[in-house]
Amino acid sequence: MVTDPSDLLRQHGIQVTAQRLAVLRAVAGHPHITADAVAEAVRAEIGAISLQSVYDALGVLVAERLLRRIQPAGSPARFEDRVDDNHHHLICRACGRMVDVDCAAGSAPCLTAVDDRGYEIDEAEVVYWGRCPDCVGQSRAPSNSDPAPPRRRRGQGNAHRGPDDRIKSS
Ligand SMILES: [Zn+2]
Ligand SMILES: [Zn+2]
Repeated sequence: MVTDPSDLLRQHGIQVTAQRLAVLRAVAGHPHITADAVAEAVRAEIGAISLQSVYDALGVLVAERLLRRIQPAGSPARFEDRVDDNHHHLICRACGRMVDVDCAAGSAPCLTAVDDRGYEIDEAEVVYWGRCPDCVGQSRAPSNSDPAPPRRRRGQGNAHRGPDDRIKSS
């Protein structure tokens, strides 16, 4: 039951604009997209749009609960249109890839705090941090005694490279 995005906006009393529609489409097509990436996608679709306009549109859509905003620690906010449930997220520490994971406990997990301290709780956020399969595969079993070996040799390690290593590039 895919609702027409224009109808969706009208149902929520939001004025339908090309920019808002394009923002909605961008997020629908790329779950967990950043505002910067939304701006890029929208520009590709309808032409120039300022980052501020993108933020404004995202703000309106989040306020009306058409989009959900996820704010992982230490990374830009991400946006998704899967708003009808209380799913969680897996985030890779290495590459930042974020994927959905269904709630382990039910439709609204952990809302019943052990002690609510008098707060009226309306949301519990669960983020699983770790490394995605690709990143785990790239660096199997890093030893704890070895502090983060450099993965790229950019600006270092050139001494032992012969001139033949250099492939002509433009
Ligand atoms: Zn990763
Ligand atoms: Zn999600």
